[in-house]
Amino acid sequence: MAMAGDSRNRLPVGIPMSGAMRLELLEELLRRRDMDQAARSKLASAPPGRSKDAFVRVQQIDAENAAWLRNALKPGYWLGRTFVGEEGSHAAWLLAQHADRDPELQQHCLKLLAKAVAEGEASPGDLAFLTDRVLLASGQNQVYGTQLGVRDGYLVACRLRNPDTVDERRESVGLEKLETYLARARELFGTPSPARIICPNCLAEIETWLPELGGRSVVECASCHTVHTIRPCIRKT
Ligand SMILES: [Zn+2]
Repeated sequence: MAMAGDSRNRLPVGIPMSGAMRLELLEELLRRRDMDQAARSKLASAPPGRSKDAFVRVQQIDAENAAWLRNALKPGYWLGRTFVGEEGSHAAWLLAQHADRDPELQQHCLKLLAKAVAEGEASPGDLAFLTDRVLLASGQNQVYGTQLGVRDGYLVACRLRNPDTVDERRESVGLEKLETYLARARELFGTPSPARIICPNCLAEIETWLPELGGRSVVECASCHTVHTIRPCIRKT
């Protein structure tokens, strides 16, 4: 913990906040991070045909976390290291990273996070991940290669701007080389398999390869024969 007189303990003007309030904020952030992670791991391990509830739960938690984050950022500052420590600031980033269904909030977070990083209040690596997420969601190419997609059954950094110099950009924000990152991700996730999504019309499961972030694909539900366009992360509702 920071001691009185420690420069890290100083609060920006205009945000009076006691140590107890900051601790409460930190605990809430970690609780929300843990719920996010638990719901996603439950979805990932749901048996085929049984993922509907887990899917709905992830969406529900993301929506609740986004609403909470929007409110917590009302003072106009990122939840930085001085407020909530390294772990708390990283947890806040996770909530922002998963607020895909609220692109306006995600862009707002990106601005606040960029300012916090410039002030030494947040991690440049976290900023790189959110930058890529927002770029892809708005139809542009990513810069740091943090967002992975599946191409020809293989995990790749999708829609990457200037791939030849990506490692220089990654190094500048403290990220490992892209090949190392990809190797780690492939080991962690194994051979990619088709995603199981829920038909919004009849709630049956549809097995399909997801398009890259910012891309689109068309799939027909085998149960109700509705044709859906899948566009990851740029949906507004
Ligand atoms: Zn259907």
